[in-house]
Amino acid sequence: MALYQSAQFVDTWTDPEFDKIHPPRTVAPHSGIYRCVGCGVEIAVSEGHLLPPAHAHPHRLGTREAWQMVVYADHRPKLV
Ligand SMILES: [Zn+2]
Repeated sequence: MALYQSAQFVDTWTDPEFDKIHPPRTVAPHSGIYRCVGCGVEIAVSEGHLLPPAHAHPHRLGTREAWQMVVYADHRPKLV
């Protein structure tokens, strides 16, 4: 489970990009936190970088190894 301290910096958003499942070793379409759908391990990946290859983390045997974005990192500047 991804954690945060200050709710003011995180918002709930509905977008189909959060529903997509990405196979191991494919390009991350967005920067953010990705979660393995089989075991729940979370990783941070920058946009354009490869998601981890298969068997790169202690994965639960018998479950699907693939990645789903759970937190999107918004790179746009904001008023602070
Ligand atoms: Zn896993």
